[in-house]
Amino acid sequence: MSNPLRITVFGSTGSIGESTLDLISRDPDRFQVVALTAGRNTARLAQQALALRPAIAVTAFEDCLPDLAERLAGTGIAVAAGPEALLEAADRPADWIMSAIIGAAGLEPGLRALRNGGTLALANKESLVCAGPLLMAEAKRYGARILPVDSEHSAVFQALVGESIAEVERVILTASGGAFRDWPLDELAGATLAQASSHPNWDMGQRITIDSASMFNKALEVIETHEYFGIAPEKIEVIVHPESLIHALVGFPDGALMAHVGPADMRHAIGYALNWPDRRALPVERLDLAKIGSLTFRTPDERRYPALRLAREVMAAGGLSGALFNAAKERALDHFIAGTLKFTDMAVLVEQVLTQTAAESGFRGALTLDKVRVADQVARQAVDQIVGRGKVLA
Ligand code: NDP
Repeated sequence: MSNPLRITVFGSTGSIGESTLDLISRDPDRFQVVALTAGRNTARLAQQALALRPAIAVTAFEDCLPDLAERLAGTGIAVAAGPEALLEAADRPADWIMSAIIGAAGLEPGLRALRNGGTLALANKESLVCAGPLLMAEAKRYGARILPVDSEHSAVFQALVGESIAEVERVILTASGGAFRDWPLDELAGATLAQASSHPNWDMGQRITIDSASMFNKALEVIETHEYFGIAPEKIEVIVHPESLIHALVGFPDGALMAHVGPADMRHAIGYALNWPDRRALPVERLDLAKIGSLTFRTPDERRYPALRLAREVMAAGGLSGALFNAAKERALDHFIAGTLKFTDMAVLVEQVLTQTAAESGFRGALTLDKVRVADQVARQAVDQIVGRGKVLA
């Protein structure tokens, strides 16, 4: 029997992390868990650690360490906390690493894990948006492989098997349209947190669910497509597909469109990355097409989803725009969740920050991790200042 695959999961207590552990737990002899990491949910992290016996469990927050240590005392499982501990977890040899921390916080652990030369299963799209060229170069340098886990990007990846990427005429990413796809435009400004946190098709973490309603999530995915596959921005399209059963389509010069069809269950894309290059049986629903009957599509209305236009501007600007865009979006979302910003003001604010920071010197040119960190801070502070002044200009 071959050696078990050594696995680390960053963000193990989240929606993607839980789905990943669900797959791993079903086939325990195939896998050996090296490290599990989480944020503040130490109770769940400890439960996972007791079930899967990693060498180490890490919380990103120092003040959570005493609780985690108490929960795992006497088990032989090491515990650690803080950003450095996340990087040390990334240094531990592993063959397959799931990058499923939410937000820009996922960038550095993922980047570091590439040094092991294994496979980075990338759910954390923010990494590619903030620092795509850095991530891709680091993978090349250490002979590591990045496999997409976002369902759309896994779909594109699968549609490209046996094809040449140079031949791709267009990539079409589907979008559910989120919670407000059918709302009258003039009611969007009054959308509440509870309304924005309910997704019509996917069961995901709260932040990405709200980002689906605003399509900031799709905006990130458009940039992710550009960064990961090297597809030119003008070849990337978005279409609203309310059923969320086709995840993406790839068009070729002979007119063929290769569509990836499957249930709205992230365990498919995670499992594909886990088993790649093989396919193995996965515990996901088998679609009954006759029962589904029809699939529908609409052009996204950019008045409803201004984030899509911003994504194109970000790709055109290049450099640090992705890092600025993502950080401004994350901070605007914090304010929406805290009740200090209206739903529709998130996009207005992000655009304001992009305009404001584009004018500043030092935010162009070669991308480095230090510059990405600075851009991230600058954008977050700019958001806080604007919100603090109470002047988000529509
Ligand atoms: P969740 O919010 O459900 O989970 C996030 C995970 O990250 C949790 O383990 C959380 O820990 C941890 N975490 C939160 N903040 C920090 C921090 N500052 N430092 C370190 N760890 C932290 O997110 P999702 O699982 O929904 O999303 C994870 C990633 O996958 C995102 O990048 C998202 O865009 C992407 N993705 C998600 C999809 C989905 O279906 N959910 C689909 C496609 C992509 P704790 O639980 O302790 O807070």
